[in-house]
Amino acid sequence: MHPEEFRRQGHALIDWIADYRAGLAERPVRAQVEPGAVKARLPAAPPAEPEPFERVLADVDQVLVPGLTLWAHPRFFGFFPSNGELSSVLGDYLSTGLGVLGLSWQASPALSELEEVTVDWLRQMTGLSSAWKGVIQDTASTSSLLALICARERTTNFSIARGGLQSEERPLVVYVSKHAHSSVEKAALLAGFGRANVRAIDVDDSFALRPDALERAIADDRAAGRVPCAIVATTGTTTTTAIDPIAAIATLAKREHLWLHVDAAMAGSAMILPELRWMWDGIEGADSLVVNPHKWLGAAFDCSVYYVKDPEHLVRVMSTNPSYLQSSVDARVTNYRDWGIPLGRRFRALKLWCLIREQGVSGLQARLRRDLENAKWFEQQVRATPHWRVLAPVVLQTICVRHEPPGVEGDALDRHTQAWAERLNASGFAYVTPATLDGRWMVRVSIGALATEREHVAELWTAMRSAAE
Ligand SMILES: *Cc1c(COP(=O)(O)O)cnc(C)c1O
Repeated sequence: MHPEEFRRQGHALIDWIADYRAGLAERPVRAQVEPGAVKARLPAAPPAEPEPFERVLADVDQVLVPGLTLWAHPRFFGFFPSNGELSSVLGDYLSTGLGVLGLSWQASPALSELEEVTVDWLRQMTGLSSAWKGVIQDTASTSSLLALICARERTTNFSIARGGLQSEERPLVVYVSKHAHSSVEKAALLAGFGRANVRAIDVDDSFALRPDALERAIADDRAAGRVPCAIVATTGTTTTTAIDPIAAIATLAKREHLWLHVDAAMAGSAMILPELRWMWDGIEGADSLVVNPHKWLGAAFDCSVYYVKDPEHLVRVMSTNPSYLQSSVDARVTNYRDWGIPLGRRFRALKLWCLIREQGVSGLQARLRRDLENAKWFEQQVRATPHWRVLAPVVLQTICVRHEPPGVEGDALDRHTQAWAERLNASGFAYVTPATLDGRWMVRVSIGALATEREHVAELWTAMRSAAE
């Protein structure tokens, strides 16, 4: 495509996206398609001849968008928010349009240095001390994998330089809460610990990890000749946004010489609000942590920031240094390829930088506070209504609820919950996530899409009641 044609098509595409974002409320939230329906409308074979780009855009409009569940919709209350602020979307386009790669500092100096500046901005915004150094990864799944590999290598004093985990005499153990995200277990498995060496620790009444249970599990493993290696604590668990007590866990980690990784993929964004920093009490005692600006904060997916206390350790674990990647300035610069897994790196800092500059810290704070107030309001409505229950403390923007009609219990209650949630989601009017808590089905309402205002939360509550009652 010639740059002049790109200018024309690009303007049309931006117009299309602007219209799409402005008109989201008129569309169904959940895709109204059966499995295979999208594929059936697309040619199975590639076009032999060039096609006009208008035809591509027409297919996006007519075939692809009806096959999407719309995360940016004002009545999207599923999973956690994945907000692509439009300023961040422009940063993402720019990253792609520039067509550069950060294999090393020298390969694109500004790519590396803007990343250093931007992750340090986010560090300051979230109240972390200057002892933390950050790097942008694709997702929290990757960040947590890095954390557990670093933990493994610290505990084994660099087994990778010898026979790896395969030559260790005693198994290494990882401790996570029962409510840890599935990506943490996956990270432990990929890092080679083995399922038999991942301990799921009990939680308290508010679904936060119990330090006493953690302490006992560590002692039991030591007594059995195993080697406790790492703890993963969560700030804002996926089911209920429970807050694990970092200070108590960090004290234990220090005493027992365990690596402490904090998964704050979702709630890390909330640390830009000083009034919520109690959630990170003790965070300075951790070795690593992850925050996903691509969730609530508004950076276009994907953008996950991994912070470490000891970047030299990370680099020692991740670095391979072939001659073609070396340069004379290596001692004076950050070569981010040695801070993670991929060699080639996108210019991801741009979308975070654009977001923070265009919104300002105060703009981001105001939006998050709006969502927290909407969540409080919603919680009050549920609590004030007979036969509806709030099942977990509401500390952020996610509310776990159940409709419990008199006389409906056990499996029948599960069927009722799943049925009304499916009626609501299938209607396309709003979207929520059913999930299990303590073995029973409930519904998570996660507030915080960019476009969600109080009126949309009120509409959801009305729709929930008519779907359930
Ligand atoms: C969303 C989430 C993850 C996974 O994030 P990805 O970036 O999709 O890998 C992990 N942990 C928590 C607590 C999350 O909320």
